[in-house]
Amino acid sequence: MEYLIKNTDLFDGYQIIPDTDVLVSNNLVTKIEKDIKLTDEVVIDGTGLILSPGFVDIHTHTDVSLVFDDNSNLLSQGVTTVVGGNCGISGGFNNDPVVDGVINFGHWDIPKWQSLHEYWDWIQSQPLPVNYASLIGYHTLIEESQKTGKSATSLLQDYLSQGYFGLSTGMVYGWGKKIQETKDILELAQVLSSNKSLLTSHVKNQSSGLFDAVKLLTDLWDNPNTSNLHIQISHLKHMFADDPKGHETLKKVFDLVEDSLAKNHSMAVDVYPYTAGSTSLDLPGRQKQCLNGWFDVFPFGYSDSIGTISQKTGKSEDEVVQEILRKNSSLLAVYQNTCREEDVWEIVAKSYAVIASDGLPTHPRNWGTFPKVIKYAQDNNLDLVQYLSKMTSIPSKIFGLTGHGEIKVGLSANLVLFDPKTIQDNATYEIPNLPSAGIQKVWVDGNLAFDESRKVLGKFGKVVKKSTSL
Ligand SMILES: [Zn+2]
Repeated sequence: MEYLIKNTDLFDGYQIIPDTDVLVSNNLVTKIEKDIKLTDEVVIDGTGLILSPGFVDIHTHTDVSLVFDDNSNLLSQGVTTVVGGNCGISGGFNNDPVVDGVINFGHWDIPKWQSLHEYWDWIQSQPLPVNYASLIGYHTLIEESQKTGKSATSLLQDYLSQGYFGLSTGMVYGWGKKIQETKDILELAQVLSSNKSLLTSHVKNQSSGLFDAVKLLTDLWDNPNTSNLHIQISHLKHMFADDPKGHETLKKVFDLVEDSLAKNHSMAVDVYPYTAGSTSLDLPGRQKQCLNGWFDVFPFGYSDSIGTISQKTGKSEDEVVQEILRKNSSLLAVYQNTCREEDVWEIVAKSYAVIASDGLPTHPRNWGTFPKVIKYAQDNNLDLVQYLSKMTSIPSKIFGLTGHGEIKVGLSANLVLFDPKTIQDNATYEIPNLPSAGIQKVWVDGNLAFDESRKVLGKFGKVVKKSTSL
């Protein structure tokens, strides 16, 4: 099928080319010029609309949901490429509560993989709604190392050569909790550096200890054989409630990142545009990092917060939590009032920050992240090119997702057509699963995957592997 998008404002990943035509045929962008005249193709009027590269969401937990879930949350935001395996957790084992809690949140009947390798083979055989790349989760890797007796460094090298993009750590989950010092991950970081790969990290502390938690990573560069390592701080946020130093902590983190960049190290952060976090309900100490303790914490599947349940039942908030955890020990929850709005947007504005959803079904970020940032940029008269780059060409370049996040003749057509006047996130904390407005059409690999019918029209995605020819 051929598509001709006429008279559109084309954002090609780097600049806006006003009022031009774009031809898509045989899965590729085949022409970009004014007044393309052809007769057989489907013509789409792009007047007043922006045609952009499909958004590249580098921080997701979609490793299982891509196969089992509807995934309209991704396509309805204009996302065409996702990176999974984040926060230390990638596909590889089932019956592991750490893994299941984060990637099998739908309790789907997943295959009984016993290694990352088995997962990797499986996902490549599945039809996917969007393109999928993956990191190796530190927890999953160490679990495999423990079970097989193979060293984590040799397993890592093996998996990197199979097309994984790097290693993710989640220093509050599973084996990740055992990382206490820089030296605990140095050998793995050296393997990553020699493969020009990334280390992404859900850092150990996102509150008063945020600076030290980030420094644990940047100190890696003080060691030999680390110069080609890229460090990516996942979902950078500052939970201010139990931090007496307040904004100063976040400012110190910005300085640390900027110092590292000034020394020519490769570093970036990703961020989602919401003040609430979402993670397991049993994460120790987390309630202290919320302004109102347990009060504003919403467990997945419950319409009331812990505070409201406590008031309704007369039980203490702690009792309510324990009761819920007895039924489901890996339950997700949304922690409201953890970050300050102005801090979130300050992070978003940084030149080294890219937009990523960290989507989980309990949280509106799963449905609204990208349209919310575009609307924010529009409402505040910010440079749209800069903000769109944060969700297309920049994340793609960080990960080396060649051919994604940009529109050029000859590249696979992963595209989103949206109305800059009406684009808006609709998902809220009360109703987190509402599609955004303004996304008109989405193409995955040249196929129309989403349109005004608001339905997923087909599975046209592919597994994207890191090229090993460095
Ligand atoms: Zn995380």
